Parts: sequence; C-alpha cells; structure tokens
Amino acid sequence: MQERGIICAMDKEAKKYIESYKEFLAKAKTERRAYAAAVELLEKAGFRNLKNASRLKAGDKVYRGYHGKTLFAAVVGRNGTSAGLRVVGGHTDAPRLDLKPKPLYEKGGIAYFDTHIYGGIKKFQWLVLPLALYGTVVKKDGTKVEIAIGDAPGDPVFMISDILPHFGKDQQEKKVKDAVAAEDLDVIAGLGKVEDILKKRYGVEKDDLLSAELEIVPAGGPRDVGLDRALVAAYGHDDRVCAYAGLSALLDVASAKGAPARTCAVVLCDKEEIGSVGASGMDSSFFENTVAELIYRDGGNARDIDVRRALEVSQMLSADVCAASDPHFPDSDSIGNEAHLGKGPCAIKYTGPATKSGASDARAEFIAAVRRVLDDAKVPWQMGELGRAEKGGGGTIAKFMARFGMDVIDFGTPLLNMHAPWELASAEDCYNTKRAYLAFFDASADALTID
Ligand code: MN
Ligand code: MN
Repeated sequence: MQERGIICAMDKEAKKYIESYKEFLAKAKTERRAYAAAVELLEKAGFRNLKNASRLKAGDKVYRGYHGKTLFAAVVGRNGTSAGLRVVGGHTDAPRLDLKPKPLYEKGGIAYFDTHIYGGIKKFQWLVLPLALYGTVVKKDGTKVEIAIGDAPGDPVFMISDILPHFGKDQQEKKVKDAVAAEDLDVIAGLGKVEDILKKRYGVEKDDLLSAELEIVPAGGPRDVGLDRALVAAYGHDDRVCAYAGLSALLDVASAKGAPARTCAVVLCDKEEIGSVGASGMDSSFFENTVAELIYRDGGNARDIDVRRALEVSQMLSADVCAASDPHFPDSDSIGNEAHLGKGPCAIKYTGPATKSGASDARAEFIAAVRRVLDDAKVPWQMGELGRAEKGGGGTIAKFMARFGMDVIDFGTPLLNMHAPWELASAEDCYNTKRAYLAFFDASADALTID
C-alpha cells in the first residue's frame, strides 16, 4: 500500500527526513529566508548566538550570523576548537532573477519588473512559469519591509511572457542561448498602477526600491516525482539540499550524549552562485573571524598563530551538489566517472574544466580517510567527475577553504537539471547525504587522522 506524500521504498527515518527537508525548502526560497529558517531550527535545539557566549566548553552549541545571509553553527569538541574543526559547508543562494534598483516600467499598457540575472541559468527556462517575489525593502529610516508574494494560498503570481508559436518562427531559428535576451527577462507585474499598490499595501515608495533586495524565484513548493515518489522536484536543491543535510547532521550531533571528538561546524554561505565574492561570500574573512571568535572563547587566548594552526588541521566536506548523469545527454558525461541518481551522495576530487584549472584537488590521503569513515558507517556513496573533459567543470567553495591549508573535498547530492527552475534529486540520495555528513562529524579522532 502506498501512502500519499510518502516515499515507499525508504525506511521511517528517511521518510521523516525528506518531509522535514521539503518543509525547509518551502520556507527557504531565498538566502535570507534559508538563514532565518536555519536560525529557527538552531535556536529550537538550544544553540546560542556566539556574541552572547563569553566562555565555551566541550559540547556547547553556538551560531554566528552575518548580514542575515551567511551562517556558521558549531558544537564544540572535546579538545576545544584549537584542535581543528570538522566543517560541512554549503551555500543557500540559488540562481534567480534579481529586481534592478529601479525595476518598475510600463510598456504597451503592461507594468513590468526589470530584472538582472543572478547565477548561471538557461534563460528560456524562466519563460511562462508562475513566479514568486521575495525580498527585503529597507526604508531610509532603517525600517524593513519583508515581501513574500506568490507562495501563500490565494496569492497572485508573476510571469515572463513568450511569443506564441504562430509568431515565433524567427525566434525558433535562433540559437537557444540567443532566443531570449537577458534584458527581456522582465516580469509582468500587472496591468494597473503597480506603484500605487506597493504604496498602499506595503507602505513602499518607488524610491524605497533603491535600497531593496527583491528576488524573482519559481512559485510553488517541492513536489514528489514519479509513481514511486523516488524523486523530489524543487527550486533551489542547489545547494539547500546539502545545506539542510549539514544542518540536520549538526542538530543530531548537538542532541547526542557527550561532546564530539572535534568541534563540528556547518557553514551556510551566500553568493556561491556568482563566485563566492562579497562580504557574505566564502571569499570574505567571515569564516576565519568566526573561528578566531571560537578559539578566543576557548580560553581567552586567540593568538593569530592559534587560529592559523586550527584552520590548517581542520577538515572539510565542501557540501555542494553535483551533476547526475542524464541518459538523454550522454555526451556530457565523463563515461565511467559519472555520478548517478539513487547511488548516494557523490565525492568529487576536483571540479575544474579540462585542465583542472581553478580546481581544489583533494589529496589521496584525505580521500582514503573519508572512504574509511563512510564505509564503516555503511553510507552508500559514489565517486564522480563533474562532466566530460572540455565540456564540464564548475566551481564550489572548496578552493576558498583550501587556502587555509585544510583538507577539503567536494561532497554532495547528485541532481538532474541543476540550475533549472525545478531541479530533481533522488529522495534517498538526500537522506544519505545527511547520513554521510553525520558519519564525518561522528568519526573518532583516529578515523580521520592522516599521518
Ligand atoms: Mn552549488
Ligand atoms: Mn550552483
């Protein structure tokens, strides 16, 4: 017998996990909302804001946020943070359309939001889809107005139009990438005086949009896919699937008896999709500053050298998704080294294109230690490459963490249609990604020691 909304082939724990992940996804439609949803879960589990913690001891649970977008959370290990951290780091931003600072215009009697692409998308995929508008408007006096339109029952949605096939002959002759211009990915905001509605309903003046971050994302929550419900379709699996798996694993560490062998930490960062730049991206000093704050609270002593040493002996799973092989696009696969849906989370030793340029190449010794830990915990996992040489490649936050000298390997959930408005993941892989991160956190000091 098949229960509605439940995946049948999975055990009770797995089903529970997938339902909670889908709940998180439905709330976390933007990086700010993912941050808020994560902080809510952390506080419920007894994590304290690091700024309110003067002294830390083994087993303490703390978090530190940055700009309301990037989040660090940790459970302090038995020997304090100076002994190094085990980090699972993912990102919570996802490809989308951002509203321009002056987004409102009217053309041919239709009111539009002018948009700017954020992250790597195939432009045509964003046409004729129900879209939602999320974001924060900050008025001159500092007050914030939260906007969320398109996902609540009864909400209107937004849409980008496309030309009908009868008139679309010229368009269809074009290369797919040229079929829609980036400047034409503008969203229908209404037929009337949109400005007046923003003012009346939200107290937002046109000029207030100058200091706003408003994002267009697909409307609708995650859905089970397939007769066996073995897949989940959602906007933003990349990389909320790994971010949530890391968070969920850390919550398990926090609720377990006794402190972990090493300080276990999760980083949920912003701006990965545009190169990890900016203050809330992984290229900023947020991570090392936070480690310094932790070590300072270990014993009131955070000499620069202590922080550097701790960073250097830290170990990290760069928790980001990878591309699953799509049987209809075999030319993209690194045959024999491609990841498959349903075979577990995937480790990627290096991500760069044909020449490995720009890749953080994990050393064999660290991979051996990770293999040991995962196999001992009986977690299914696979090893893969990010696409065929000269066709594939891509970047993650791995290289920004590797600069501290720590061991880091990309390790995350395989996806079909990555970066599409709706991405597909195997439900079982989602759950096993969490199990893998938990095995990494739970491993004994010896199991992950490399000589
Ligand atoms: Mn990613
Ligand atoms: Mn991505």
